[in-house]
Amino acid sequence: MSTFVSARNPGQDKPHNQSPFHLEQPPNITYTIHSPGHSIPMSNTTQKPFTITIIGGGIGGLILAVGLLRRNVPVQIYEAAFSFTEIGLGLSIGPAAHRAMPLIDPQIQNIYDSLITTHADSPDYEGYRQTWFEIVWASGLKEGDPLMDLKALPSGQTTLRRADFLDALVGLVPADIVHFGKRLDGLFEGEEGVQLWFDDGTKVNADVKSMVKELMLEEERTKPRYSGMYGYRAVLDMKDMVDAVGEQRAKVSTMYIGHGAYAISYPIMRAQKVNVGVYILSDDEWDCDTWVRKAKREDMLLDTENMGRYVKSLVERMPDPSQWAIFEHPHISTFAKSRVAILGDAAHASTPHQGAGAGQAIEDAHVLSELLDDSCIKFAKDVVAAFKAYDEVRRPRSQRVVTSSKENAYLLCLCMDGVGDNEAKLKDTFQQHLHWLWDLDVQGQVEEAREKMAGYLES
Ligand SMILES: Cc1cc2nc3c(=O)[nH]c(=O)nc-3n(C[C@H](O)[C@H](O)[C@H](O)COP(=O)(O)OP(=O)(O)OC[C@H]3O[C@@H](n4cnc5c(N)ncnc54)[C@H](O)[C@@H]3O)c2cc1C
Repeated sequence: MSTFVSARNPGQDKPHNQSPFHLEQPPNITYTIHSPGHSIPMSNTTQKPFTITIIGGGIGGLILAVGLLRRNVPVQIYEAAFSFTEIGLGLSIGPAAHRAMPLIDPQIQNIYDSLITTHADSPDYEGYRQTWFEIVWASGLKEGDPLMDLKALPSGQTTLRRADFLDALVGLVPADIVHFGKRLDGLFEGEEGVQLWFDDGTKVNADVKSMVKELMLEEERTKPRYSGMYGYRAVLDMKDMVDAVGEQRAKVSTMYIGHGAYAISYPIMRAQKVNVGVYILSDDEWDCDTWVRKAKREDMLLDTENMGRYVKSLVERMPDPSQWAIFEHPHISTFAKSRVAILGDAAHASTPHQGAGAGQAIEDAHVLSELLDDSCIKFAKDVVAAFKAYDEVRRPRSQRVVTSSKENAYLLCLCMDGVGDNEAKLKDTFQQHLHWLWDLDVQGQVEEAREKMAGYLES
C-alpha cells in the first residue's frame, strides 16, 4: 500500500544503469479507466514547468492527482495493477478530511456526497443524522444499552463502498496520464533527477517524487508490524441484520464494546447492506506469511464467547471465518527526502479503529497540492522545500493518528490504562480522541506548511 510521486523537467531523459533500491511487493489493488478525457477546471492558468509522477493510484494518489491537475500541475500516474479489483468493503471519512475535499477540488466532495449512505437513508432514522456511532455495551448487566451517542458534526456517519469512490475518482483523471501494469521496482536519485524502474523492465526519469519509505530510509525499521489484533469481516443484508440484532441496532452505526474484543456495524449502499467487523485482542504473534489466514467457525465463536448476544447473533451470520491481521507502520523519521516524499498508507498506515486512514491520505493530498501550486514553486528543484514543509506539518499529526487509533482499540476493548470500563472516563476519552482528530483547521494546516516552505526557499 503505497503512493509515491515523481516529476520530470521537459527533455530530461538520461538513463542510469544502477538500481540501488528494491521494493517489497505491496498488495495489489487495481482499476480501469472507464471515462476518457476529462476536463478538470484549472484554478491556475500558468502550467508548472515540471511533471509530478505519482506511483500508485489508490485513494491518496488519485486525490493528489486530481488536486494537482486542477492547479495546472502536470501529472503522470504509474499503477502496479492492470484493472480495478478493489473489494467492496465500506469506507467512512471523518469531518476534517471531508472539509479538505472541496479545497482540493469541489468535484471530490460532490462525488463523495453523491455516493454516501447516512442514517437518513433509513426511514425514521433522520434523528441520527449527526451520529457517528452509538457505542453500546456488548455484554454484562448493561448488555445492549448505549454508553453514548457519539456525534460527528456536522455530517454524522457517512459511508460508501471503497470501490465506488475509487472508480468515480478514476473518472476525474484523463486516461492518457495513467500507466497500468507498472509496479515500481526501484529508483535511483542523482543530481539531475530520479530514475524509476518498473518490474516490466521499463525506466522513467523524474525529478520529484513521493516514494516508498524503504527507499528513503534504508537504516530504519519501516516494515508494517502486527498490532496484536485480528478481525473477522462481512457485509450482511439489512434484512439479516434486523433479524440478528433488531432494527435500531441494524440501522444505526454501532460499536459494541467488550472485554478484549469489540464489534462494529454500519449501513452502506443506501442502507441495503451493513458492513460488519469483529476485532479481537490477541497476545500471540501473527504466525502466518499472509495478512489473511483461514480459520474455523469454532475459532470465531470461541473468540466472541464473552461478547454477549448481539455480537453472537452477528457472528452466526458472518459467512467467512477468515482472520484478518491488523498491521500498523512504525513511526518513521521523515516523509520526505530531497525530491522524494511519501503519502497515505505508505507513510503512516494505521489500524482501522478510528476509521481515519483514508482521511489522513486526503489531508496529505490537500497539503501537497496546495504547496506544489504555490507561486514560490517555480522549478522542480523548489519542490524539495515543499516536501520538507509537508513532512514537518503532516508527520506529527498523521503519526499521532496511528497512535490514537491503536489506543482507540484499547478503549473499545475496555482495557485502556486508567480508563478500563469506567463509564465517565470512557465517554471523556472517546470525545477527546475524536474531537482532536475532527476539529482540525484544515486550511490552517496548509498555511502553516506554506510559511515553513517559504522559509526553506529563502534560506
Ligand atoms: C479493514 C480496514 C478498514 C478501513 N476503514 C477505513 C475507514 O473507514 N476510513 C478511513 O479513512 N480509512 C479506512 N481504512 C484505511 C484506508 O483504507 C487506507 O488508509 C487508504 O486506502 C490509504 O490510501 P493510499 O492511497 O495511501 O493507499 P492504497 O489505497 O492502498 O493505494 C496504493 C496504490 O498503490 C499501488 N501500488 C502499491 N505499490 C506499488 C508499486 N510498487 N508500484 C506501483 N503501484 C503500486 C497499489 O496497487 C494501490 O493502487 C481502513 C483500512 C482497513 C484495512
